[in-house]
Amino acid sequence: MKGYGVVKIGQPGWLEKEKPVPGPLDAIIRPVVIAPCSSDTHAMHGGSGPKENLILGHEAVGEVVETGNLVIKFKPGDKVVVPCVTPDWTGRYIQEGKYNAHDNTMMGSFKFLLAKDGTFAEFFHVNMADANLVILPEEIAPEAALMTVDMMSTGFHAVELAEVGYGEVVVVVGIGPVGLMSVAGAQLRGAGRIIVVGTRPNCVKIAKEYGATDVVSYKDGDIVKQIKDLAGGTVDKVIIAGGDGKTLTQAISMVKPTGIVSNVNYYDASDTFTIPAPVWGLGMANIDIRGGFCPGGAARIEKLLNNIKYKRIDPSKLITHRFDGFEKIEDAFLLMDKKPADLIKPAVFIKW
Ligand code: NDP
Ligand code: ZN
Repeated sequence: MKGYGVVKIGQPGWLEKEKPVPGPLDAIIRPVVIAPCSSDTHAMHGGSGPKENLILGHEAVGEVVETGNLVIKFKPGDKVVVPCVTPDWTGRYIQEGKYNAHDNTMMGSFKFLLAKDGTFAEFFHVNMADANLVILPEEIAPEAALMTVDMMSTGFHAVELAEVGYGEVVVVVGIGPVGLMSVAGAQLRGAGRIIVVGTRPNCVKIAKEYGATDVVSYKDGDIVKQIKDLAGGTVDKVIIAGGDGKTLTQAISMVKPTGIVSNVNYYDASDTFTIPAPVWGLGMANIDIRGGFCPGGAARIEKLLNNIKYKRIDPSKLITHRFDGFEKIEDAFLLMDKKPADLIKPAVFIKW
């Protein structure tokens, strides 16, 4: 079968692979709508370590073509939403409720890209289908459902880690698709004021539609000063969904003592963090610094789909570029890599 991915670091391209085979609990899926993610392009450039001959992609809505003999909830022909994180639910950390890691492997529940080929393929494999797949609800457009599997789950996770509460002043640094979902999530959790950092005009427009009250540009000088001036001092919570190696220190510098900094940004392997002691209250400011990974599994995605079904949020606003046909995965991926200013998220619609 054909798939699109990383031939070697820095070189994306088409790959020929064996069609995957399901284990007893697994399913084989054909993609119906897929989207590239910033993490796919980051991986292609080597930001997550050495990779070669690997099919990329971890966001998909698809159709079941084959199931293992112990799968009970799904059958060939079912349209399914595929979480980008598909835990092996037998893992020790998972039994302890920490389901993003698997035993001692950081992000070990992220199987696509880290442990096997991804979703940019004619067929892809999903482990533990009954615990990880969700039937696509009839009322929800596949492209909206697609935005739950990574963008909404990650963006909302940043809001959960930040424990955003009613009336709080929340900063969201970065308003690409992940940060935009954090804005929408903070709004749903009752934030009072949502100050966002970003510049692309269509991201700014959608951030306001999702609930942003103020916009700061990192191109207009120090964001810490700009935000403190706006807020009249420090803020309750800072969510990081973009930026560079300096952003963590900036976030700690603008959050109040006892506040929370919540990061979902994917730093580069070469980044290091330097925190001047005074901005962290000489280590005694009781500032929580949290970083997390997209939660997955069926129950998570079912809940996020409810937010769409009952019209709390329309995440399909993120999709700015649409492509038709399997072979257009390449164009969508290269566009995601180039990131023109009007791009938020491309999606590829596939008919078989
Ligand atoms: P985008 O690249 O689309 O958005 C990045 C945002 O950060 C933009 O708004 C950009 O502004 C802003 N930005 C860029 N430089 C700075 C700076 N110096 N200071 C402040 N803001 C800045 O990214 P995505 O939304 O697609 O993804 C965000 C991050 O989340 C990525 O690192 C991605 O890999 C990661 N990710 C993490 C996951 C997880 O599980 N933790 C899952 C999925 C993604 P501008 O408007 O000017 O472009
Ligand atoms: Zn991703």
